[in-house]
Amino acid sequence: MRVWFDNNVKFERHLEVMGSEVNEEEGDTPKTLCPSLAALETMPNQHALSAKLYSLRKKSMLTDPQLSREDRAWFLSCSQFNAGSWLHAIPSIRRFKCGSAEFKTMLQIRLGLYVAHTEHIKECKCGAKADTSFRNARHWMTWCPKGHRILLHNRTRNVIAAMYKALGVAAETEVKGLYLQLTSYGAHRPADVLVPSSSSGDGVAWALDVAYTDPTCATAIQHNSDTRALSSAKARHSAKMATHAKALTAAGAAGLPFKKKPLVFETTGAMGQETQKWWKAVLAIEAALRTPGDTTSRRDLGLEHTFSANGFATYWLQSISLSYARSQAESIMVWVGRNAPASSAHDTDTSLR
Ligand SMILES: [Zn+2]
Repeated sequence: MRVWFDNNVKFERHLEVMGSEVNEEEGDTPKTLCPSLAALETMPNQHALSAKLYSLRKKSMLTDPQLSREDRAWFLSCSQFNAGSWLHAIPSIRRFKCGSAEFKTMLQIRLGLYVAHTEHIKECKCGAKADTSFRNARHWMTWCPKGHRILLHNRTRNVIAAMYKALGVAAETEVKGLYLQLTSYGAHRPADVLVPSSSSGDGVAWALDVAYTDPTCATAIQHNSDTRALSSAKARHSAKMATHAKALTAAGAAGLPFKKKPLVFETTGAMGQETQKWWKAVLAIEAALRTPGDTTSRRDLGLEHTFSANGFATYWLQSISLSYARSQAESIMVWVGRNAPASSAHDTDTSLR
């Protein structure tokens, strides 16, 4: 907690320095609480000011010498695209609602804090002995063979499929037979979501393959995931494409009638670089459906929306992010409960100490 306190103190100092700079530039007295009207017209907008502050905050957090490599990798991943979209979600509609216990666990995971009741666990049902990865619950994110990885994966797959259907794209889930011509590769998984060639944008069907990877696991740390953002996602993407390349070679001159598109996310919810390219392609499909002057407001279109999710991008990015963060918290709560010693009553919560 001391690290957080120190960072907050530094952050407040940055605010003071920036505030005095604005006052000096605009000729206000140093003690002025509100900037003058002239200053308001010339000063950077809130977004620009916030971006600078967030950048300073991120730098001070990631250079904190007290952080472990795992925590640094976690926070670096937390700062990547779409990792924290769920924090902007307003629970005024069903898809953005969370139980209070789940939401608390989601926040603890996000902040790298110890998750409630993990202090009671001595051993996981998978046989692993308790260590720090039990306290911050990362053991059950991707490491534990008994984790709910398939369930979490399927939830993201379903949100993506629903998003395509909302765009009028006849995307199918769990499409089998893509590798049927390769009898020696009969064990290949089907496409999580198959986007037909008429909608992919390049005339070839896309076989989307959703995957999650943990930037804090030992292999990721070996790839310097604590200093190279999204390196864990990149490694997973490369591995999936290498497997696909073998199938493509085996297919011979006939080739395969689809393009493989791994959609790799990190367990923080961050989209890998290639996944971000896919997202831009989705936005292009959505833009092509509109004509200039059409409203983009979901409220005006009579669609489900919130104040912070009133456009196609914000609504679906928050949906993907929140669905995973909530499912991850639910899964962790299940495993914390299953692994708790029978004698440990859940009457204490030392997670925030
Ligand atoms: Zn386990």
